[in-house]
Amino acid sequence: MIEKIEDVKLYINGEFVDATGKETFENINPFTNESINLVSKGDQADIEKAVTAAKDAFENGPWGSMKIKERMKYIERIADLIEEEAETIAHLESMDSGLPISQTRKMAARGAENFRFYSRMVQARMHGDAYQVDDEFINYTVYQPLGVVGLITPWNAPFMLLTWKVAPALATGNTVVLKPAELSPLSANILANVMQKAELPKGVFNVVHGFGETAGESLVKHPDVKAISFTGETTTGKRIIKNSADSLKKTSMELGGKSPLIVFEDADFENALDAAVWGIFSFNGERCTANSRVFVHKSLKEKFTEALKQRVQNIIVGDPKENDTEIGPLIDKGHFQKVTGYIELAKEEGCEVFQGSVPEQFSAGNYVPPTLLLNAKNDMRVCQEEIFGPVMAVIEFETEEEVVQMANDIDYGLAGYVWTSDIKRAHRVAQSIDSGMIWVNSQNVRDLRIPFGGMKASGIGREGGHFAIFEFYTEPKAIHVAISDHHIPKFGMKK
Ligand code: NAD
Repeated sequence: MIEKIEDVKLYINGEFVDATGKETFENINPFTNESINLVSKGDQADIEKAVTAAKDAFENGPWGSMKIKERMKYIERIADLIEEEAETIAHLESMDSGLPISQTRKMAARGAENFRFYSRMVQARMHGDAYQVDDEFINYTVYQPLGVVGLITPWNAPFMLLTWKVAPALATGNTVVLKPAELSPLSANILANVMQKAELPKGVFNVVHGFGETAGESLVKHPDVKAISFTGETTTGKRIIKNSADSLKKTSMELGGKSPLIVFEDADFENALDAAVWGIFSFNGERCTANSRVFVHKSLKEKFTEALKQRVQNIIVGDPKENDTEIGPLIDKGHFQKVTGYIELAKEEGCEVFQGSVPEQFSAGNYVPPTLLLNAKNDMRVCQEEIFGPVMAVIEFETEEEVVQMANDIDYGLAGYVWTSDIKRAHRVAQSIDSGMIWVNSQNVRDLRIPFGGMKASGIGREGGHFAIFEFYTEPKAIHVAISDHHIPKFGMKK
């Protein structure tokens, strides 16, 4: 069991250090709203140190030029160490974020798998192509790491999301400065410990804790940082793109969502119900791909709504440390107020609000009970804006055309879910919905090889699989070689 949580320091050039300004901030437990520990508050000066270390490690250290097999030994070692620490990671993550332990255990395991996966992927797939051009030329491509990359991550699934970026960034030979979310610093700190234990060369991996407006912005604006991979809110993403313009950075944007789940009249009722409930209430509803808009065919609406009500009343709202807890507290008081504000707004907009309950003994935590917004209309603000809590809007529809139109009538385009037994309709609707990912008769399960990301206001670019390697963390270089004599125009020969 975890007794005392050490204060968290920055990790720069292979060492745990205080912030240059010696300032700290409190890390609050969402279950008790009491302080867990203090965290060093990194600032521009610390970003400067971290980027200098990462640049030196890339240009002068062994990392970029290391044989791939050698580099992958480090990546595999990191995965081994994460597996050894998995139970501690899961407990700390639950304490830090309020996510139920049964879910953080899976996230810790996935964190290790992210490193193993990218070790395999880089060894098997990181190669260029060759193009024969008649018998005159051979052109070929090589994929090279970018240099120092900045990774900025959110608090909603902290460890899983940061390993998802760190693993491909390091495996492809880049060096990293990570700015984790200020509301959930513990698992990034464990990762720094893991890197130290794995004896990664100094400066290859650095963590600067701190706030978005200071540490985050300094990282984004730093001229020696070649790329920023960001996961977080759409408004933050827009700001990061603007701030990275002067130094012409490559950016990858994984942003917000308001994803539709459509239940047609011929859907497998029980499976659709299970998936709809899990899809919004897992991760405490703080899930980018959550099905926060559920469209139910008119003929099923009454039965489906009754079933949803039953489930919502039975969901176990509890202590995130307990194995059977299904919903824990939201990340902090500010977010709690945002979510409860939207529930009030739903009433003003004309929804019937139906909620489960929060046991009295958990009143210190930031709990929002599982909530249904019934009789919702797609154009209500509660259906258009990302609430990012355990709140599902239920919207009735009659025709396929109408539901596709409503599903697409939104700024976001991250995920979508279609439930129907009609195979033609399943594909037709899947292809008509404007989102980066669609699941058909399936809950949100994802193979790591598949592209992950959104369109419209949900993002730019894709992570996962070879997409992370080829489209983001490396630069393709084309090399043109003449293999026989060829015509070269002659200038300056006429006088
Ligand atoms: P956020 O945008 O508030 O913060 C994310 C990170 O950005 C934090 O580390 C924060 O410190 C940093 N940041 C904030 N302002 C910054 C700035 N000006 N410059 C640089 N960095 C800055 O997001 P959040 O509240 O932590 O996370 C929730 C959001 O993340 C939701 O909108 C959710 O949908 C989204 N999300 C998206 C995906 C996806 O893959 N599309 C996955 C998970 C979460």
